[in-house]
Amino acid sequence: MALYLSEQEIEEAISWNTDILISNSKINESIYLLDRQHRLPSGKRIDLLYEKGENGYLIVELKAEYVKDISVFTNQILEYKKELSEEKNISKSNIDCILASSRGFSEKVIEKAEDLEVNTIYLDEEKLSQINLKNEITRMPFILNKKALTTFKLISLRLDLNHNEILNKIIEGNKKVLNCLESTSTLIEKIESDEENIEPDEYSKKRIAEIFRTISRENSIFAHEIGKDEQTYVKNNENAWFWFFYSVQDWRANANRFIKAKKLLENEGIYRPRKIVKLVKNESKKKVIKKIANILEPHGLLPPHPYTGKLAKPKSITEAAIFLDDFDFKVNNIYENYLERCEDKKEVYSEIWDQLQDVYGMGERTTAQFIRGMVIKGTWELPLDDKRQLEICKYNVRFASKEKIGLVKSKEDYENKLLKFSERYLDGNNGIISHALWVVRKKYCYKKMECDICPLNGYCLRNLRKINNSEEKKLEDIKQRKLTEFI
Ligand code: SF4
Repeated sequence: MALYLSEQEIEEAISWNTDILISNSKINESIYLLDRQHRLPSGKRIDLLYEKGENGYLIVELKAEYVKDISVFTNQILEYKKELSEEKNISKSNIDCILASSRGFSEKVIEKAEDLEVNTIYLDEEKLSQINLKNEITRMPFILNKKALTTFKLISLRLDLNHNEILNKIIEGNKKVLNCLESTSTLIEKIESDEENIEPDEYSKKRIAEIFRTISRENSIFAHEIGKDEQTYVKNNENAWFWFFYSVQDWRANANRFIKAKKLLENEGIYRPRKIVKLVKNESKKKVIKKIANILEPHGLLPPHPYTGKLAKPKSITEAAIFLDDFDFKVNNIYENYLERCEDKKEVYSEIWDQLQDVYGMGERTTAQFIRGMVIKGTWELPLDDKRQLEICKYNVRFASKEKIGLVKSKEDYENKLLKFSERYLDGNNGIISHALWVVRKKYCYKKMECDICPLNGYCLRNLRKINNSEEKKLEDIKQRKLTEFI
């Protein structure tokens, strides 16, 4: 199909792709676009004006017609060169010129151009129209536009695609990429205009929920396994008891302490709940608590509880074991027992919750954590739509707020917003949210932030601000150095 591009369309395409000029001319220095339709003091206009190398300029005169007459030099190019050298106060020898046409040149023009050392470029209209098509679709000036750079970077993080793939998919009309493009550019606009409360749009919320599901599925509930390939499920009684043993003592302590405590008690034959209860029956609860304390204390495993002193953890372990006595020392029997007695699973959840609260050491957070673990990594099939599963605490609020992913504004609307989010995108599973937030905090965003590998990096507002700033710097750098490297 014959193409006909107007001068304006040619200018548009070239301004987006400097390579066309560099690869077809004798210019061997880096150039970057300074101006389109640059107005000279006389009122005449240079189609494209570039800065060239350290201290030079490049004038580009564009033609969408066959250039037959050498008047193009006398009336235009040489005039522009003279005026520009005066305007910029530089020697004419520092100004290069290109005459580019999509329809070719007469012999006369080519000869004259050689005499005057003006580069002539015969432009490929097909190629130019492709560039314009891409640009039109993306509506993103690649050149010197921070928003475009940030948008591409963000889409690339969100969809794991490189820039070319993004562009091709946009041209193909790929819905996923187009939706992502819309979502990211809107978000960037909000960031740029410094909006106070930036809430993710529907597209982002849906994706954040998917990421939460993946994080929760792929990561352990045990803190000592975060960042490792392995993850322990709590489907057998051995692991389920360790989870109970772990949860009942978990006052945000280092998980390695629980492993060490387990080993020490195992060595003394007083780790398994049946054994603990047997000792309680043979001796007394008080003596068993003391015994456990004597084993753990020399290893520094009994940090004094602020209210209950050093015996708090041994007491929790002993009471957890006693609790299991009613269930034949099988954690899963807790669930089976209430499943038989209750009308529905909501009631099962509620009964288990209430019973666990009677175990010394089981507060709201640890109870939520224990049940959550038994559901998402174990065999219990219970709804986790209880708002206490959202675990409101300063860490979770910080992560869910505008400091990171912007799902909530503050502590005040944390529960309300996340309940709606979970109901809409996670089938009401609040446990996935608290588990995922905890994993991200532990694995990627602890002392050192590992944004490059964090699964939320395409949605985290903090990371977006960081990218935006770094793209700004990059842009400045490009301006200082060479545009061609960037493209
Ligand atoms: S992207 Fe970075 S700042 Fe944001 S949550 Fe992940 S690690 Fe933390």
